[in-house]
Amino acid sequence: MTNTYAQRGCATDQKMKEFFQKNPQALERKADLRNFLINKNNTAKSPQTVVTIPVVVHVLYKNATQNISDAQIASQIAVLNNDFRKMNSDFNTVVPNAFKPMAADLELAFCMATKDPNGNPTTGIERKSVPSNFDFEGDYYIASGALAWDPTKYLNIWIGQMPPGILGQAYLPDAAGLELDGLAIGYQYFGTIGTVSAPFNKGRTATHEIGHYFGLEHIWGLDGSACGTSDNDDFCADTPATDSPYYDSPTFPDNQLTCTPSANGAMFMNFMDYVDDAAMAMFSNNQKTITSNTMAGPRASLLNTNGCSSTVLGTNESEKANSITVFPNPTTEYVSIASPLVKINEAEIFNSEGRLVRKAFIKNETDKINVKDLATGTYYVRTYNDKQFVKSMKFIKK
Ligand SMILES: [Zn+2]
Repeated sequence: MTNTYAQRGCATDQKMKEFFQKNPQALERKADLRNFLINKNNTAKSPQTVVTIPVVVHVLYKNATQNISDAQIASQIAVLNNDFRKMNSDFNTVVPNAFKPMAADLELAFCMATKDPNGNPTTGIERKSVPSNFDFEGDYYIASGALAWDPTKYLNIWIGQMPPGILGQAYLPDAAGLELDGLAIGYQYFGTIGTVSAPFNKGRTATHEIGHYFGLEHIWGLDGSACGTSDNDDFCADTPATDSPYYDSPTFPDNQLTCTPSANGAMFMNFMDYVDDAAMAMFSNNQKTITSNTMAGPRASLLNTNGCSSTVLGTNESEKANSITVFPNPTTEYVSIASPLVKINEAEIFNSEGRLVRKAFIKNETDKINVKDLATGTYYVRTYNDKQFVKSMKFIKK
């Protein structure tokens, strides 16, 4: 097999850096969103149920080898449905007893889309031949001709020949709903059969990249951030801070890279580290806080989809109303209305004295209402579906 590498490399940090450079407004809003995602109080309000995410795979191939089979794609979905439910068969052997209490079932499931954006039947797989000089460095999601299916309704995955040393890349929820939203993965690292190549032949690159898609950072924080620097943080207290990535297949316990040595050492077997596929086997409870908040906020629109026939939607009125949230909260820059089960197309913001201070028409669930210029304090947002009042919610402007 050619073009395979002995060590994991992920371009998510680099892609997000480029994204924030091109979208300074998204950078301004980053702190508000992060504070929302890491807040443990946000997810407590509704009982958790397993959420099924419709997936579309765009295979961008330069030759027959890269045009991976339907069966190889199916093998990847099977891995995801184990890893995100803590049902992976290697969990007990790979995760040391000391870390098992910190391991979480993220309650996320995945299915191949059964309906395309026009409502027509589909396998959820799209195949496109690309020229030999095609690469994933630029706007591959446009240049390939395989445009994203509505990213508010589908998880888009592009497969092809990644740059040397890069196994995959993803966009964090800051980019939710944009044309680039989703992930890209090398054809040698997707699934467990066919073109996959050891030591990345157990489908964990997609598990890792989808972790990013749901808001998770690398264990060591941003690339190049050493212990003690402000970027050396994944915002999860239960994943011990480390100086840099672990590679290969370390032996537990290991303190070579921990910022504060401890009996258990580093949680290098976490899916968000850089170890080999066979050496990673868990997400943590604090990581689940982030992924659950992502589903309650910036990616709530994935719930409102007919992309999988098996998707379970709430039907009664209280379920519909409960599904609506205003986020981030508190906020400094903007608020969005997550309304997966009922269409909200108008919102009014009132101050604590009951005065209308803003009115917004909402086209997409990912629309952002600017509140930067509002005075600090408590506000109420009233939401409407075709002029019919639906729900009132409170938020804090800081
Ligand atoms: Zn990564």
